[in-house]
Amino acid sequence: MIEFDEFGPEKILEVYNPKVKMRGFVVIDNTALGPGKGGIRMTPTVTKDEVARLARAMTWKCALAELPFGGAKSGIIADAKKISKEEKKAIIQSFSRALKPVCPSLYVAAPDMNTAEEEMRWFAEANGSMKACTGKPKELGGIPHELGSTGFGVYHSTLVAAEHIGLKIEGAKVAIQGFGNVGRFAAKFLSEKGAKLVAVSDSKGVIYNPEGLDFEKLAKIKDETKSVINYEPGEVLKGEEIFELPVDILIPAATPDVITEKNVDKVKAKLIVEGANIPIPHDVEGILHEKGVMVIPDFVANAGGVISSYVEYIGGTPEQMFKLVEEKIKKNTKLVLELTEKEKLKPRDAAMKIAKERVLKQGN
Ligand code: NAD
Repeated sequence: MIEFDEFGPEKILEVYNPKVKMRGFVVIDNTALGPGKGGIRMTPTVTKDEVARLARAMTWKCALAELPFGGAKSGIIADAKKISKEEKKAIIQSFSRALKPVCPSLYVAAPDMNTAEEEMRWFAEANGSMKACTGKPKELGGIPHELGSTGFGVYHSTLVAAEHIGLKIEGAKVAIQGFGNVGRFAAKFLSEKGAKLVAVSDSKGVIYNPEGLDFEKLAKIKDETKSVINYEPGEVLKGEEIFELPVDILIPAATPDVITEKNVDKVKAKLIVEGANIPIPHDVEGILHEKGVMVIPDFVANAGGVISSYVEYIGGTPEQMFKLVEEKIKKNTKLVLELTEKEKLKPRDAAMKIAKERVLKQGN
């Protein structure tokens, strides 16, 4: 059941094309600040309910990042593994044409599960406007995902939060779960700043060395052997053990629900910066807050990707992207921490308060 409230959703458009077996929908949650921004998820099980929740998360993320975007998300019901490239192309093109009444005026698409650069090319070309989506290939004005905008933002959020709690970044012990687009770049920038990367994990396990891991060597090992656990010297641990290590900073940057009621008491970090989406259930964030652990919420710390999308949308360059991600993430992390302190709120509640106020102010 989709829930409606004073914020949205404003529009839900369901579209079909039996000729190419296209079946999809877009949920435009809120456009008070600008056209709704959100990716196209293609899975056999995607539902309007799931998409509506993701659209709402985009409303808050864009508002907090102070972008002229609202929140939206779309879904295409198809099994990407079972269809040919031609079939996928026909579905994306048909979906794009069907969405023309709302895109790009009220909806700006992006990649999500099973959609990437190529799909964005098909989507933009079928729509006729390059403003129809972000995440396009470079030759169509896209800003490559591989530049690591989200990890770069997570890094800046970490710097601001560390300073706020009086933790010196040089020599601070850092553990990062996940060595993909987010985790790898967070690791790179933090290492370059002098933090001591002591543990990194991927789906195969954790590599841990309290003396520190060399980022360049680690990246090479990951590329050559497909896993960070082959790095030497270091101890290989089970995936979940990364959350219990004696570190100053913990960055979950892989999967949801990794710190739960089961392991929350074993967390030793003073600062947790959420690179992944919902790595900690909200009530468990509350437990950490009570224990004096600073948790920077996902939609504050990992907004670098959507800020990069905005720079692509306005036709900007990678240099402009890095500058804007740094500016916005620093400013908004500071703002959230100041409000947290001033009104004795949990960081997530402070962030939500700021985001809601921005949406309501424009909506009136
Ligand atoms: P990715 O696919 O590039 O990398 C994921 C990494 O996590 C890989 O190194 C993988 O081996 C590792 N991993 C998978 N399962 C694991 C497990 N159980 N334990 C430890 N490591 C595991 O993904 P990404 O783009 O880096 O995204 C990571 C998270 O950040 C996701 O939650 C995603 O929704 C979120 N996020 C990503 C972006 C972005 O721009 N990439 C933006 C906002 C949020």
